[in-house]
Amino acid sequence: MQSVRCRGCRDWVRVPDLEPAERVRLAALYPEDRMAAMREIAQVTGWDLREAKRLMLHFTTTPGVCHFDPCATKLQAVVGPCAVCGRVNVDWLR
Ligand SMILES: [Zn+2]
Ligand SMILES: [Zn+2]
Repeated sequence: MQSVRCRGCRDWVRVPDLEPAERVRLAALYPEDRMAAMREIAQVTGWDLREAKRLMLHFTTTPGVCHFDPCATKLQAVVGPCAVCGRVNVDWLR
């Protein structure tokens, strides 16, 4: 598990260590059904819904691209802050 500071929400985002297949499943579910994704994250991690939501809100929806719409900078790391806006991205779709 790692924690990364986000410049957007000014919070520490906790990112669990999960199997690749699980990561893709959760990240792909997010744009389809946010509530279901949040509940699934909470179940898999054992976290409360608030913590699960915080992680979920940092998922990319386009692989390799910052989730903050006006920014849309290309990302280097799978998990880390965007080089331009500083928002944490969890790029589990790639
Ligand atoms: Zn944030
Ligand atoms: Zn960005």
